[in-house]
Amino acid sequence: MRTKERQPRTRRCSFQGEGNCGNAVKPIEEFPVRVYNPDGTPKYYQTYCAPCTKLYQAAYRKKNKEKLAKYHKDYLAEVRSNPVTHEAMKKRHRELQRKRRKRPEVQEAERKYRHEQWKRIKADPEWHARRLETYRIGAKLRAELRTGSIPPNATLRGPVPLPTAPRVDAEPFRQFLRAKVDEAGTVAAYIAELGLDENRERTIRRVLNENKGRVQLSVVEDILHSDGSVFLEDLYGEQEIAA
Ligand SMILES: [Zn+2]
Repeated sequence: MRTKERQPRTRRCSFQGEGNCGNAVKPIEEFPVRVYNPDGTPKYYQTYCAPCTKLYQAAYRKKNKEKLAKYHKDYLAEVRSNPVTHEAMKKRHRELQRKRRKRPEVQEAERKYRHEQWKRIKADPEWHARRLETYRIGAKLRAELRTGSIPPNATLRGPVPLPTAPRVDAEPFRQFLRAKVDEAGTVAAYIAELGLDENRERTIRRVLNENKGRVQLSVVEDILHSDGSVFLEDLYGEQEIAA
């Protein structure tokens, strides 16, 4: 029996899109695998070669941008709605990040970037001073963390978002408070008179002790309501309340 010599398999790329390989004949290994055998070896291959597949996918993504974005958004919403799948996704993500960081070329690129960035920072005295201040704050926080005077979460929580509640200039309110405190004798007496809680008490003391600043409109409103002698509109113009 004559055994046929096994020829290397080839295939002609069938991609017709722009920038294709010219429908070249290529070794089968240059085509992405479509189906695998149970043992993990390739069974069928795609009809577009790998570079043409990239072109095809890029064109498809470009054409269907909105649709794909919606799919992704829906998918994320579904995963996040279930704590189990959400946790699993976060774990997967962390694992990927860890693997990525471990790659030597990534580590080298990151080290180089840090080096260059530090040079840029040092070249700008203002930036440098700001950065040193940041380091001092970080060092102080870490020291506090070590002594246990702040809970471990405080450093991980990141920057506190700025309040978005409407605020007004504190000055008219301060003048009002000063007059009231003079009448009552002491701050404590006035606060006791109004029967306010300690949050409101703290706000009143802060406003009285500062010389400028802004105060939350709803807080002013609440305190004036407890006081009952003056309307909000008497202290602030319509424009300022609306702003
Ligand atoms: Zn091709």
